[in-house]
Amino acid sequence: MASKSTFRTDVWIDWCPGCGDYGIVAAMSKAFSELNLDPSKLVVVSGIGCSGKTPHFIYANGVHTLHGRAIAFASGIKLANPELTVVVNGGDGDLLGIGVAHFVALGRRNLDITVILHNNQVYGLTKGQASPTLRRGDKTKSLPAPNMQDAVNPIALALSSGYTFIARGYALWVDHLKELIKQAIRHKGASLIDVLQPCVTYNDLYTTDYYKDKLYKLEDDPSWDPVVSRIEEVEDKMSKALAKSLEWGDRIPVGVFYVNPLIETYNERIAKRNPTYSIIPPAKQLIAKNNGEPIIGVEEFKKLFSDYIIKIVK
Ligand code: SF4
Repeated sequence: MASKSTFRTDVWIDWCPGCGDYGIVAAMSKAFSELNLDPSKLVVVSGIGCSGKTPHFIYANGVHTLHGRAIAFASGIKLANPELTVVVNGGDGDLLGIGVAHFVALGRRNLDITVILHNNQVYGLTKGQASPTLRRGDKTKSLPAPNMQDAVNPIALALSSGYTFIARGYALWVDHLKELIKQAIRHKGASLIDVLQPCVTYNDLYTTDYYKDKLYKLEDDPSWDPVVSRIEEVEDKMSKALAKSLEWGDRIPVGVFYVNPLIETYNERIAKRNPTYSIIPPAKQLIAKNNGEPIIGVEEFKKLFSDYIIKIVK
C-alpha cells in the first residue's frame, strides 16, 4: 500500500528476485521515515539503468531522467529551491561512466545533495557488460574475456572532487545503510554513499557469498574518526580515507570514510554573491500576475538582456 509514513508506493517492483536494489529501497524508505521528512519536500532523482526505477517505488516527488544526467537535474532542482531534500540514485555505469563529469562537478560545488551509488560492477539493465567499477582482469558471466580496463575507485574520486560526506554501505545490511543515508541527508553539502549492491543475475564474482566474511564496519574501531574538525586536519583525514578505500580483498570496509562540515555549500556561495537568493530563490519568484499576465513583459525583458540580445544580433 502506498503510504506517506513508509515512503513506499504500490508500484510493482520488477527487479530480479534477490537483487541488492531491494535493500537500498528498504533502507531509503526507513531513513526518510525516521527523519520524518515531508514527502512533498523530498525529490528522488535517477538516471538510466536498473537503479533508474528507484523513484517509482518511493513515495515522494520523483524524476526519472536521462542516462548519466541525474546529478545535473538534481543540481537544477536544489538550486531552484534550496528547501528541498534532493537524493540521487544511479548505478556505477550511469554515474561513473557517461555521468562522471556531473559526478565531479557536484563535489566541486559541494551542493547539498545526497548521491546513492548502486555499485554492482556491471551494466545490469543491458545484460551485464563491464561497468567502470569492475576491476581489470575480472571476468563476469556476460564477458567473453577478462575486463581490460582499470576500475574507478568511487571513494577516491569523490575525495578528490570535493565531496564533504563520503561513505560506503552494503545493500543487504539495511539498517546500517539506513543510518548512513540519514547521516548523509543531515550533512550540509555533497554526500556520496557507495553501496555495494550484488547483481544476482549478471555479476557472479561479487556475490553475497563473496562479501559475506569480508565486510567490516569502520566504526567498530574506536580510534576511527573521519570528521574534520579543524581545516588543518583535512590532509590527514583525506589520506586515511583514501588508504581505507584501497582496502579490497580479505577485508572490505564499510561505514563513514570522510566528513568535512567546514566547507561552504554552493547555495551559501550563491547567497553571498546575491543576498536575495536565500529569501526568494528562483522557484519562489512570481512569473505571472493573478490574471496570467507575465511579470516581465517583452519590453522589460529586452531592457534586462539588451547587451546580450545586441551581441547575438551582431
Ligand atoms: Fe538487479 Fe542485476 Fe537484475 Fe538489474 S539485472 S535488477 S541489478 S539483479
